[in-house]
Amino acid sequence: MTAATPIGEFEIIERFFASLGARRGDVVLGVGDDGAILTPRAGCELVVVTDTLIEGRHFPAASPPASVGHRALAVNLSDIAAMGAEPAWALLALTLPRADPAWLAEFARGFGTLAQSAGVALVGGDTTSGPLSMTVTVLGQLPAGTALRRNGARAGDVLFVSGTPGDAARGLQHDIMAQAGTASIAGDAATRVDALRQRFRYPMPRLQLGMGLRGIASACIDVSDGLAADAGKIAAASGCGVSIDVQSLPLSTALLQDAGEAQARDLALCGGDDYELCFAVPAAQLALLAQRLPVAAHPYQRIGVMTAAPGMQLHVAGQRIELPVTGFDHFR
Ligand SMILES: [Mg+2]
Repeated sequence: MTAATPIGEFEIIERFFASLGARRGDVVLGVGDDGAILTPRAGCELVVVTDTLIEGRHFPAASPPASVGHRALAVNLSDIAAMGAEPAWALLALTLPRADPAWLAEFARGFGTLAQSAGVALVGGDTTSGPLSMTVTVLGQLPAGTALRRNGARAGDVLFVSGTPGDAARGLQHDIMAQAGTASIAGDAATRVDALRQRFRYPMPRLQLGMGLRGIASACIDVSDGLAADAGKIAAASGCGVSIDVQSLPLSTALLQDAGEAQARDLALCGGDDYELCFAVPAAQLALLAQRLPVAAHPYQRIGVMTAAPGMQLHVAGQRIELPVTGFDHFR
Protein backbone atom coordinates (compact mmCIF):
# COMPACT_ATOMS: atom_id res chain seq x y z
CA MET A 1 0.00 0.00 0.00
CA THR A 2 1.20 3.51 -0.78
CA ALA A 3 0.67 6.49 1.50
CA ALA A 4 -1.56 8.29 -1.00
CA THR A 5 -3.70 6.55 -3.58
CA PRO A 6 -2.93 8.05 -6.99
CA ILE A 7 -5.92 9.67 -8.66
CA GLY A 8 -6.77 9.45 -12.33
CA GLU A 9 -7.65 12.08 -14.91
CA PHE A 10 -11.40 11.61 -14.51
CA GLU A 11 -11.19 12.04 -10.75
CA ILE A 12 -8.94 15.12 -11.09
CA ILE A 13 -11.54 16.79 -13.27
CA GLU A 14 -14.47 15.70 -11.09
CA ARG A 15 -12.85 16.74 -7.83
CA PHE A 16 -11.14 19.97 -8.80
CA PHE A 17 -12.38 21.40 -12.09
CA ALA A 18 -15.95 20.25 -12.84
CA SER A 19 -17.60 23.43 -11.56
CA LEU A 20 -14.89 26.04 -11.10
CA GLY A 21 -15.51 29.77 -11.25
CA ALA A 22 -18.76 31.65 -11.82
CA ARG A 23 -22.08 30.01 -12.67
CA ARG A 24 -23.30 31.52 -15.93
CA GLY A 25 -26.68 31.15 -17.61
CA ASP A 26 -25.00 31.37 -21.03
CA VAL A 27 -23.18 28.02 -20.52
CA VAL A 28 -25.45 25.49 -22.24
CA LEU A 29 -22.94 22.70 -21.64
CA GLY A 30 -19.76 22.97 -19.57
CA VAL A 31 -17.04 20.56 -18.42
CA GLY A 32 -17.60 16.87 -19.12
CA ASP A 33 -18.54 16.43 -22.80
CA ASP A 34 -16.34 16.57 -25.90
CA GLY A 35 -16.91 20.31 -26.13
CA ALA A 36 -18.59 23.21 -24.35
CA ILE A 37 -21.70 24.93 -25.74
CA LEU A 38 -21.91 28.67 -25.07
CA THR A 39 -24.35 31.41 -25.99
CA PRO A 40 -22.61 34.70 -26.83
CA ARG A 41 -24.64 37.86 -26.22
CA ALA A 42 -26.52 39.16 -29.26
CA GLY A 43 -24.65 41.88 -31.15
CA CYS A 44 -21.36 41.04 -29.47
CA GLU A 45 -18.02 40.03 -30.89
CA LEU A 46 -15.90 37.40 -29.15
CA VAL A 47 -12.36 38.22 -28.03
CA VAL A 48 -10.22 35.09 -27.62
CA VAL A 49 -6.83 35.01 -25.87
CA THR A 50 -4.48 32.24 -24.79
CA ASP A 51 -1.26 32.05 -22.82
CA THR A 52 1.03 29.23 -21.64
CA LEU A 53 2.93 29.28 -18.35
CA ILE A 54 5.85 26.88 -17.80
CA GLU A 55 7.42 26.17 -14.42
CA GLY A 56 10.93 27.57 -14.22
CA ARG A 57 10.34 29.92 -17.14
CA HIS A 58 7.22 31.94 -16.30
CA PHE A 59 7.13 31.27 -12.56
CA PRO A 60 9.79 29.95 -10.16
CA ALA A 61 9.87 26.23 -9.41
CA ALA A 62 8.00 25.34 -6.21
CA SER A 63 5.81 28.48 -6.39
CA PRO A 64 2.71 28.35 -4.16
CA PRO A 65 0.13 26.39 -6.18
CA ALA A 66 -2.62 28.95 -5.44
CA SER A 67 -0.40 31.62 -7.03
CA VAL A 68 0.24 29.43 -10.08
CA GLY A 69 -3.52 28.93 -10.55
CA HIS A 70 -4.21 32.64 -10.07
CA ARG A 71 -1.50 33.77 -12.50
CA ALA A 72 -2.47 31.24 -15.19
CA LEU A 73 -5.89 32.89 -15.37
CA ALA A 74 -4.76 36.45 -14.53
CA VAL A 75 -2.32 36.81 -17.44
CA ASN A 76 -5.14 35.86 -19.83
CA LEU A 77 -7.67 38.17 -18.15
CA SER A 78 -5.10 40.95 -18.54
CA ASP A 79 -5.10 40.41 -22.31
CA ILE A 80 -8.92 40.46 -22.23
CA ALA A 81 -8.73 43.76 -20.27
CA ALA A 82 -6.31 45.23 -22.82
CA MET A 83 -8.88 44.53 -25.55
CA GLY A 84 -11.64 46.21 -23.52
CA ALA A 85 -13.66 42.98 -23.35
CA GLU A 86 -15.75 41.44 -20.59
CA PRO A 87 -14.46 37.94 -19.77
CA ALA A 88 -16.96 35.07 -19.77
CA TRP A 89 -15.50 31.60 -20.28
CA ALA A 90 -12.17 29.81 -19.81
CA LEU A 91 -10.48 26.58 -20.90
CA LEU A 92 -7.58 25.03 -18.98
CA ALA A 93 -5.06 22.54 -20.39
CA LEU A 94 -2.95 21.38 -17.45
CA THR A 95 0.22 19.27 -17.63
CA LEU A 96 1.28 17.80 -14.27
CA PRO A 97 4.33 15.77 -13.27
CA ARG A 98 2.15 13.90 -10.73
CA ALA A 99 -1.45 14.06 -9.50
CA ASP A 100 -0.93 15.54 -6.03
CA PRO A 101 -4.39 16.23 -4.52
CA ALA A 102 -3.05 18.87 -2.08
CA TRP A 103 -1.32 20.76 -4.93
CA LEU A 104 -4.39 20.47 -7.16
CA ALA A 105 -6.74 21.74 -4.45
CA GLU A 106 -4.62 24.87 -3.95
CA PHE A 107 -4.14 25.42 -7.69
CA ALA A 108 -7.91 25.14 -8.21
CA ARG A 109 -8.54 27.52 -5.29
CA GLY A 110 -6.26 30.18 -6.80
CA PHE A 111 -7.75 29.79 -10.27
CA GLY A 112 -11.33 29.49 -9.00
CA THR A 113 -11.25 32.51 -6.67
CA LEU A 114 -10.12 34.82 -9.46
CA ALA A 115 -12.54 33.21 -11.95
CA GLN A 116 -15.41 33.76 -9.53
CA SER A 117 -14.53 37.40 -8.92
CA ALA A 118 -14.13 38.05 -12.67
CA GLY A 119 -17.42 36.30 -13.55
CA VAL A 120 -15.64 33.61 -15.56
CA ALA A 121 -16.87 29.99 -15.83
CA LEU A 122 -14.39 27.18 -16.52
CA VAL A 123 -16.09 25.28 -19.34
CA GLY A 124 -13.51 22.73 -20.46
CA GLY A 125 -9.91 21.67 -20.77
CA ASP A 126 -7.51 18.80 -20.67
CA THR A 127 -5.09 17.17 -18.23
CA THR A 128 -1.93 15.33 -19.21
CA SER A 129 1.21 14.18 -17.43
CA GLY A 130 4.59 15.84 -17.99
CA PRO A 131 6.65 18.80 -16.74
CA LEU A 132 4.42 21.34 -14.97
CA SER A 133 2.85 23.77 -17.43
CA MET A 134 -0.57 25.10 -18.27
CA THR A 135 -2.29 26.76 -21.18
CA VAL A 136 -5.37 28.84 -20.44
CA THR A 137 -7.73 30.20 -23.06
CA VAL A 138 -10.25 32.90 -22.13
CA LEU A 139 -13.17 34.09 -24.22
CA GLY A 140 -14.63 37.53 -23.63
CA GLN A 141 -17.27 39.57 -25.39
CA LEU A 142 -17.93 43.19 -26.25
CA PRO A 143 -20.30 45.19 -28.45
CA ALA A 144 -19.27 44.68 -32.09
CA GLY A 145 -16.68 47.19 -33.26
CA THR A 146 -15.68 48.54 -29.83
CA ALA A 147 -12.52 46.53 -29.08
CA LEU A 148 -9.36 48.38 -28.06
CA ARG A 149 -6.39 47.71 -30.34
CA ARG A 150 -2.71 48.59 -30.35
CA ASN A 151 -2.71 50.40 -33.65
CA GLY A 152 -4.99 53.42 -33.14
CA ALA A 153 -2.66 55.89 -31.39
CA ARG A 154 -1.82 59.19 -33.11
CA ALA A 155 0.81 61.87 -32.48
CA GLY A 156 -0.35 64.09 -29.63
CA ASP A 157 -2.32 61.36 -27.82
CA VAL A 158 -1.47 61.24 -24.13
CA LEU A 159 0.05 58.01 -22.77
CA PHE A 160 -1.03 56.57 -19.41
CA VAL A 161 -0.19 53.54 -17.29
CA SER A 162 -2.29 52.02 -14.51
CA GLY A 163 -1.04 50.95 -11.09
CA THR A 164 2.59 50.96 -10.02
CA PRO A 165 4.78 49.14 -12.58
CA GLY A 166 8.02 47.59 -11.38
CA ASP A 167 6.62 46.04 -8.20
CA ALA A 168 6.11 42.57 -9.70
CA ALA A 169 9.60 42.43 -11.22
CA ARG A 170 11.12 43.37 -7.86
CA GLY A 171 8.94 40.76 -6.16
CA LEU A 172 10.22 38.12 -8.58
CA GLN A 173 13.82 39.15 -7.84
CA HIS A 174 13.11 38.61 -4.14
CA ASP A 175 11.52 35.21 -4.87
CA ILE A 176 14.66 34.15 -6.72
CA MET A 177 16.95 35.50 -3.98
CA ALA A 178 14.89 33.68 -1.33
CA GLN A 179 15.17 30.42 -3.26
CA ALA A 180 18.92 30.88 -3.62
CA GLY A 181 19.10 31.48 0.14
CA THR A 182 20.80 34.86 -0.35
CA ALA A 183 18.03 36.91 1.29
CA SER A 184 17.99 37.73 4.98
CA ILE A 185 15.45 40.42 5.65
CA ALA A 186 13.57 41.37 8.81
CA GLY A 187 11.18 43.97 10.21
CA ASP A 188 9.65 46.69 7.99
CA ALA A 189 11.85 45.62 5.08
CA ALA A 190 10.38 42.11 5.27
CA THR A 191 6.83 43.53 5.13
CA ARG A 192 7.74 45.54 2.02
CA VAL A 193 9.36 42.52 0.40
CA ASP A 194 6.28 40.40 1.10
CA ALA A 195 4.06 43.06 -0.49
CA LEU A 196 6.25 43.13 -3.61
CA ARG A 197 6.32 39.33 -3.86
CA GLN A 198 2.52 39.31 -3.69
CA ARG A 199 2.43 41.66 -6.68
CA PHE A 200 4.24 39.04 -8.76
CA ARG A 201 2.28 36.11 -7.39
CA TYR A 202 -1.21 37.63 -7.50
CA PRO A 203 -1.47 40.25 -10.28
CA MET A 204 -4.96 41.75 -10.56
CA PRO A 205 -6.04 42.27 -14.18
CA ARG A 206 -7.52 45.72 -14.86
CA LEU A 207 -10.83 44.50 -16.27
CA GLN A 208 -13.03 47.45 -15.21
CA LEU A 209 -10.48 49.96 -16.51
CA GLY A 210 -10.22 48.13 -19.85
CA MET A 211 -13.99 48.05 -20.37
CA GLY A 212 -14.25 51.70 -19.32
CA LEU A 213 -11.67 52.72 -21.92
CA ARG A 214 -13.89 51.59 -24.83
CA GLY A 215 -14.71 54.71 -26.83
CA ILE A 216 -12.01 56.72 -25.01
CA ALA A 217 -8.57 55.14 -25.62
CA SER A 218 -7.11 55.17 -29.12
CA ALA A 219 -4.80 52.23 -28.29
CA CYS A 220 -4.20 49.90 -25.37
CA ILE A 221 -1.84 47.08 -24.36
CA ASP A 222 -1.28 45.18 -21.14
CA VAL A 223 2.20 45.43 -19.64
CA SER A 224 3.72 41.96 -19.60
CA ASP A 225 7.16 42.43 -21.19
CA GLY A 226 7.98 45.76 -19.51
CA LEU A 227 6.42 49.21 -19.85
CA ALA A 228 8.99 50.57 -22.33
CA ALA A 229 8.79 47.52 -24.59
CA ASP A 230 4.99 47.45 -24.49
CA ALA A 231 4.58 51.21 -25.03
CA GLY A 232 6.98 50.73 -27.95
CA LYS A 233 4.60 48.11 -29.38
CA ILE A 234 1.74 50.65 -29.36
CA ALA A 235 4.00 53.15 -31.15
CA ALA A 236 5.22 50.61 -33.72
CA ALA A 237 1.71 49.28 -34.42
CA SER A 238 0.32 52.82 -34.70
CA GLY A 239 3.08 54.09 -37.00
CA CYS A 240 4.19 56.82 -34.61
CA GLY A 241 6.68 57.32 -31.79
CA VAL A 242 6.44 57.69 -28.05
CA SER A 243 8.01 60.00 -25.50
CA ILE A 244 8.07 58.97 -21.84
CA ASP A 245 8.81 61.30 -18.92
CA VAL A 246 10.69 58.87 -16.68
CA GLN A 247 10.25 61.12 -13.63
CA SER A 248 6.47 60.85 -13.93
CA LEU A 249 6.43 57.05 -13.60
CA PRO A 250 4.10 56.01 -10.76
CA LEU A 251 6.47 54.16 -8.41
CA SER A 252 5.17 52.53 -5.23
CA THR A 253 6.65 53.50 -1.89
CA ALA A 254 7.50 49.84 -1.28
CA LEU A 255 9.49 49.66 -4.53
CA LEU A 256 11.29 52.98 -3.95
CA GLN A 257 12.28 52.04 -0.40
CA ASP A 258 13.29 48.51 -1.33
CA ALA A 259 15.15 49.09 -4.60
CA GLY A 260 16.17 52.77 -4.51
CA GLU A 261 15.07 55.34 -7.08
CA ALA A 262 17.35 54.44 -10.00
CA GLN A 263 16.64 50.71 -9.90
CA ALA A 264 12.93 51.34 -9.23
CA ARG A 265 12.73 53.33 -12.48
CA ASP A 266 14.58 50.62 -14.39
CA LEU A 267 12.22 47.96 -13.08
CA ALA A 268 9.17 50.09 -13.87
CA LEU A 269 10.38 50.62 -17.44
CA CYS A 270 11.84 47.21 -18.21
CA GLY A 271 10.80 44.72 -15.53
CA GLY A 272 7.63 43.16 -16.87
CA ASP A 273 4.97 40.91 -15.28
CA ASP A 274 3.01 44.00 -14.19
CA TYR A 275 -0.26 43.16 -15.95
CA GLU A 276 -1.19 46.83 -15.82
CA LEU A 277 -2.71 48.67 -18.79
CA CYS A 278 -0.76 51.15 -20.92
CA PHE A 279 -3.06 53.24 -23.09
CA ALA A 280 -3.18 56.29 -25.33
CA VAL A 281 -5.99 58.88 -25.16
CA PRO A 282 -6.60 61.66 -27.71
CA ALA A 283 -6.67 65.17 -26.18
CA ALA A 284 -10.35 65.49 -27.10
CA GLN A 285 -11.20 62.49 -24.91
CA LEU A 286 -9.28 63.50 -21.78
CA ALA A 287 -12.28 65.11 -20.09
CA LEU A 288 -14.39 62.01 -20.69
CA LEU A 289 -11.57 59.84 -19.31
CA ALA A 290 -11.45 61.81 -16.05
CA GLN A 291 -15.24 61.77 -15.78
CA ARG A 292 -15.89 58.11 -16.58
CA LEU A 293 -12.77 56.66 -14.95
CA PRO A 294 -11.84 58.79 -11.92
CA VAL A 295 -8.26 58.13 -10.84
CA ALA A 296 -9.45 57.52 -7.26
CA ALA A 297 -11.33 54.42 -8.45
CA HIS A 298 -8.96 53.29 -11.22
CA PRO A 299 -5.40 54.39 -10.45
CA TYR A 300 -3.57 55.47 -13.61
CA GLN A 301 -1.08 58.19 -14.40
CA ARG A 302 0.01 60.24 -17.39
CA ILE A 303 3.55 59.19 -18.31
CA GLY A 304 4.13 60.60 -21.78
CA VAL A 305 2.84 61.44 -25.21
CA MET A 306 2.74 59.85 -28.66
CA THR A 307 4.98 61.63 -31.16
CA ALA A 308 5.03 62.03 -34.94
CA ALA A 309 8.71 61.05 -35.11
CA PRO A 310 9.10 57.28 -34.82
CA GLY A 311 11.14 55.69 -32.02
CA MET A 312 11.17 56.26 -28.29
CA GLN A 313 12.43 59.18 -26.25
CA LEU A 314 12.98 58.84 -22.52
CA HIS A 315 13.20 62.10 -20.59
CA VAL A 316 15.01 61.89 -17.28
CA ALA A 317 16.60 64.66 -15.19
CA GLY A 318 16.73 67.10 -18.11
CA GLN A 319 18.36 64.50 -20.37
CA ARG A 320 16.81 63.02 -23.47
CA ILE A 321 17.63 59.41 -24.40
CA GLU A 322 16.60 58.26 -27.87
CA LEU A 323 15.93 54.58 -28.50
CA PRO A 324 14.39 52.50 -31.24
CA VAL A 325 10.97 51.06 -30.27
CA THR A 326 12.37 47.54 -30.03
CA GLY A 327 15.24 46.00 -28.06
CA PHE A 328 14.71 47.21 -24.53
CA ASP A 329 15.83 43.94 -22.97
CA HIS A 330 19.29 45.22 -22.21
CA PHE A 331 18.38 48.85 -21.64
CA ARG A 332 20.91 50.60 -19.40
MG1 LIG B 1 -0.80 41.14 -23.76
